[in-house]
Amino acid sequence: MKVKKFICINCGAPKINDYKSPYIICDYCGSFTDVDYTLGLDFWKASPEKTMMYMAKKVQITNNLQLMLSKGNRYEYARLQREYWDFYYTTYPEYLPPTIDKPEEYKMYIDIAGIAMTNYAFDEFWKNKAVQLSVLQSAIKYDYPQTGAKVKPETFFPMAEFYIQYVKDSLRDYYSNPEYEIMNELLPPTVHVKMKLSMFVQIWLPYLNETDANKFLKMSGLSLEYVEIKKPEGRIQECSNCNEELFVPAGSYKVYCEKCRKINTINKKFICMSCGAENDVPNNPSKPINCSYCGTENRLIQPLFG
Ligand SMILES: [Zn+2]
Ligand SMILES: [Zn+2]
Ligand SMILES: [Zn+2]
Repeated sequence: MKVKKFICINCGAPKINDYKSPYIICDYCGSFTDVDYTLGLDFWKASPEKTMMYMAKKVQITNNLQLMLSKGNRYEYARLQREYWDFYYTTYPEYLPPTIDKPEEYKMYIDIAGIAMTNYAFDEFWKNKAVQLSVLQSAIKYDYPQTGAKVKPETFFPMAEFYIQYVKDSLRDYYSNPEYEIMNELLPPTVHVKMKLSMFVQIWLPYLNETDANKFLKMSGLSLEYVEIKKPEGRIQECSNCNEELFVPAGSYKVYCEKCRKINTINKKFICMSCGAENDVPNNPSKPINCSYCGTENRLIQPLFG
């Protein structure tokens, strides 16, 4: 079968099962591992009315944020940021990372977004970066052929390059802050970069001709490749939460249910390759684990794809 090529960042497995959200969960170790921007774009375009309503409200909130920033009202700024993120995920629930499936996780995720955005907005270094970005944005010029407005590439790519670097640098800074430690679990840094760039790409793609679009996707690291893979051996199992039928490839430890967004644990025990003793599978089965009896390091999934 021909599939879009996604390789798990943790265990190296290819993505096999169909998916309904823009987020790719590994079929072997259950890690949140990649983003398919095309599905993100589908949700974005599904209801033009909804997207217009969203954009209008976003402009309104952005203006208020700008006002609070100029007044130096940090408290109100943080409250508005939180309100914005909550509005964003209630409007597009499909964009909520699959790792966030409990109300308390959602609250923590939104709180962190609000605090982090506020810290960056009030920080001189990042404030300056944001100003540079908006200068590049307002320099973008358009052509108007029959097919609709297209950006002039020489005005667009400097902004795109700057933005991509800005996202990478700011997220590197963000993940190095111990206050946001929990984010490593909720949203791995490499996936976070892709998530941000995927949203950026979906806004600009309609304004680019095919050549520029391909260049843009390549720069953003979102180009999709297709590969021919043999469907692995496996079995059908019901989701333990919603009874949906799931395909469980042989050798898998965790399979995600796209219907109810729950991870199904497939194997709780593994047999040590050295002494044969039965051990508990760690929470993250892609990590090497030492046998609790003989100390030998076992790799549970990698050998399959090594
Ligand atoms: Zn994996
Ligand atoms: Zn389910
Ligand atoms: Zn052992």
